[in-house]
Formats: sequence, C-alpha cells, structure tokens
Amino acid sequence: MTETHSTAARGDSGPETARLVASRVLDVPDFPQPGVLFKDLMPLFADGKVFREVVDGIVGYHGRDGFDVVVGIEARGFVVAAAVAYAAGVGVVPVRKAGKLPRVAHSVSYALEYGEATLEVHEGAFTAGHRVLVVDDVLATGGTAEATLDLVERAGGTVTGFTVLLELGFLAGRERLAPRPVHALLTV
Ligand code: AMP
Repeated sequence: MTETHSTAARGDSGPETARLVASRVLDVPDFPQPGVLFKDLMPLFADGKVFREVVDGIVGYHGRDGFDVVVGIEARGFVVAAAVAYAAGVGVVPVRKAGKLPRVAHSVSYALEYGEATLEVHEGAFTAGHRVLVVDDVLATGGTAEATLDLVERAGGTVTGFTVLLELGFLAGRERLAPRPVHALLTV
C-alpha cells in the first residue's frame, strides 16, 4: 500500500485528523488517464473506526445544528454525505450527473479540461432557506464544487458549508471558491 505520508500533515481540522485521512489514502498513478494521480479514499471508507471518526469530525466542525440537509456530489460524495446526514439526524440530497434523476431537475454545466459536464438536482429538493452542507471526497480544480454550490443556491438552498476529505492544494480550488469557505480534512 502506497500511503500518502507526511510528517507535517495539514488540514482545517488540525494535524491529527489530517494524519488520520492521510493514513487511509492510496495514490493511484495514471488513473483514470495518464498523468493523473488519483487519490483513492476507498481504504478510509472501508475502515469502520476511521470512517466514523472522520464523519463525526465533520459533524463536529459544522455543529450538529449547523445544517438542515447534506448534499453529496456523485458518486464518492454520496458515501460521505449519507453518513454525515445520518450522524446529524438530517436528510441527504444527491447532486447527480446529467440524465440520472427521474424527475424535473435544475441543471448546471461547467467546463472540464476537455469538454463539458452537467450536474443536476431535483426541483423542490430544498425548501427556501434550507441550510445546506455540501460534501465530496476530493477538491481538485474546484470546477465541480463551484458548479454544485451554484446549483444548490439556484434550487433554493443556502450553502452554509463545503467539506472535502482531501484537497489538492496546488490546483487552487479553494481560491476559485472564495469567498465561500472550504473545510478540507487533509490538504496535500
Ligand atoms: P474538480 O472539479 O477538478 O475539483 O474535480 C473534483 C471531482 O473530481 C471530485 O468529485 C473528485 O472526486 C474528482 N477528482 C478530481 N481529481 C481527482 C484526483 N486526483 N483523485 C481523486 N478524485 C479526483
């Protein structure tokens, strides 16, 4: 197992949490295409104790009463979102890739390195003023997160937080999302 080791792990919930996440990430070179170093968080999801600690840490950071619903971004974001929602006793809303939702949906398109992607959320998913915590596994360039936060607000939600397990700091996604705050458990 090639773990992401760092003696000075950093993240917005402190070095201990950052180290915990770092201990359960696998670096997969050239996936899904040559030149990409894929950050695989499946080992974290698969470790019950660490997963619970991470999920409880996310709820603790935002406060159990700090949000009314959790949004997960397809697909790995769903894993985190459902657990956080359950731990906080709130519901979960999926933001999905184009064409997957069965009912009328809001949609937003955004540029990828090559081409375009579209994300959707059901109309009526949020009641006005619903405080929404958005979660995903990895923040890279920030394009997916930016589109999701816009989509949630267009659908009537109020984004009160955005959490990722891992942030690729050198891609500056955080700056792209500013002034919206980003909560990353591990920044590499
Ligand atoms: P971006 O829009 O560039 O911030 O990309 C974020 C989305 O793509 C997230 O939903 C991630 O799951 C995925 N992603 C992008 N880069 C990586 C990477 N190096 N390792 C794992 N997932 C990634």
